[in-house]
Amino acid sequence: MTRESKQLIVVGGGPAGLSAATEAACYGMAVTLVDESSTLGGQYFRGRQDSEEEGSPRVFERQSQGVQTLIDTVVFDAPGAGVLSVLTEGQAARTLHYDALVLATGAYDRPVALPGWTLPGVFTAGGASTLARSYGVTPGSRVLVAGAGPFLLPVADELSQRGCRVQVIEATTPSTMVSGVPFVATDLEILGQTVGYLARLTARGVRRRYGRVITRIHGHDEVEAATIHRVDDEWRPIPGSETTVEADAVCLGFGFIPHLDLAQLVGCKISYSGDVAESFVKTDDSMRTSQPHIYAAGEIAGIGGSRVAVAEGRLAGLTAARDAGMVSREHYSAGVRRLNKRLAHVRRLADWMRNAYRPRVGLWDLAEPSTIVCRCEDVTLGSIQEELATNAATPRAVKTATRSGMGLCQGRICSQYIMEWLQAHHDFRIPPDNWPWRIRPPVRPVSLGDWLLSEES
Ligand SMILES: Cc1cc2nc3c(=O)[nH]c(=O)nc-3n(C[C@H](O)[C@H](O)[C@H](O)COP(=O)(O)OP(=O)(O)OC[C@H]3O[C@@H](n4cnc5c(N)ncnc54)[C@H](O)[C@@H]3O)c2cc1C
Repeated sequence: MTRESKQLIVVGGGPAGLSAATEAACYGMAVTLVDESSTLGGQYFRGRQDSEEEGSPRVFERQSQGVQTLIDTVVFDAPGAGVLSVLTEGQAARTLHYDALVLATGAYDRPVALPGWTLPGVFTAGGASTLARSYGVTPGSRVLVAGAGPFLLPVADELSQRGCRVQVIEATTPSTMVSGVPFVATDLEILGQTVGYLARLTARGVRRRYGRVITRIHGHDEVEAATIHRVDDEWRPIPGSETTVEADAVCLGFGFIPHLDLAQLVGCKISYSGDVAESFVKTDDSMRTSQPHIYAAGEIAGIGGSRVAVAEGRLAGLTAARDAGMVSREHYSAGVRRLNKRLAHVRRLADWMRNAYRPRVGLWDLAEPSTIVCRCEDVTLGSIQEELATNAATPRAVKTATRSGMGLCQGRICSQYIMEWLQAHHDFRIPPDNWPWRIRPPVRPVSLGDWLLSEES
């Protein structure tokens, strides 16, 4: 590929990235799609490679014309404008050049620190689901699937179908589900899915308990039991309401948070919506970020599920092609109208879900002084509290004083939790338009040799 042709790189092979790549390629852009996984499809299609849904790897294979696909390839740095450093498994690091970039790096489970959450046998709901779907491995035999949101249902479905004895512990009350009836009832696709989950869970005797939160996970070397409290509307435990349940695995899922590291590295503006406690890459209505020729789609532009990701991905691909001069104004306007109609439909339910299952402040009360908050650097909540006696209550001061967020994961696990905790317990306010957690390369662990090699190439 010559540098003169318009080169688009799409990072992320989930529904958003596959859709963006397909759309841009169909207008003649030279597209390279990069994903660190060994299969395409992202989180939603993991273990469902034969799905024929829109945004799936099968549909991508059929519809994408000449897209160069690099799997097992992680983007770990962006050393200059138009340049990404990548590392493909088994190969030396190298650089890729782009004229336009679509970021579709997805999301991961929102980490919530609570006593016992670092015990072996505690999983994220998404992690447990991936283990089961991709490798046929279940987390245990008596499993608590706990947190908030519709994602608990497919996880419970998956695990109970594989023979686990599952209980679902949902923080919101049944009235939350009832308030969603007008949205779900007019969305036949989701209605069918929801009814299916509930019917299967009922048939398998999966108990679902609402208005409850796991407040402590017990065990010496592994999970043995969990304490569950009834909670008030803000998810604060109600004293005296606790019960203890035996279990050998706990899967925690309090929704997802976007994967922002790469977007931050290339200088995209990050916003924060306090109403739903969500950080995301700021885009305009056409998925352009604050950086020229860089677009964002899917979960990193706001959690909305796979249908929103597909429509946003297509819009990002179309806009990238338009900005590269490969789509006429009329054609672009017609495409935007069509995609916006679809987005309005799928976002209706997604917005309700986002609001109904938003994390409540009680979540930031669960950790105790001895609870580890930063798992990479073993930083406890107590050591953060000690530093606050003499330090400013800001994420940067906490990071510098305690090393929280400086480990291998670069703060992916603890950074948002620490900010939310500072917001709930101190005067710190997460600014809506100035994301306060800085990121440094490499965004994924790579050897120094590989890093230097990519800087040279
Ligand atoms: C573990 C998990 C399981 C989920 N399961 C479901 C489900 O069953 N049903 C449902 O409706 N929703 C599920 N979701 C929600 C899901 O994220 C969305 O519905 C949908 O997959 C979003 O699509 P996306 O393209 O935005 O992101 P994703 O599907 O997350 O795709 C992002 C892709 O980017 C790649 N990537 C990220 N960073 C880099 C990098 N630096 N270099 C290279 N590649 C990179 C990742 O490997 C990933 O394949 C799940 C989410 C998670 C986190």
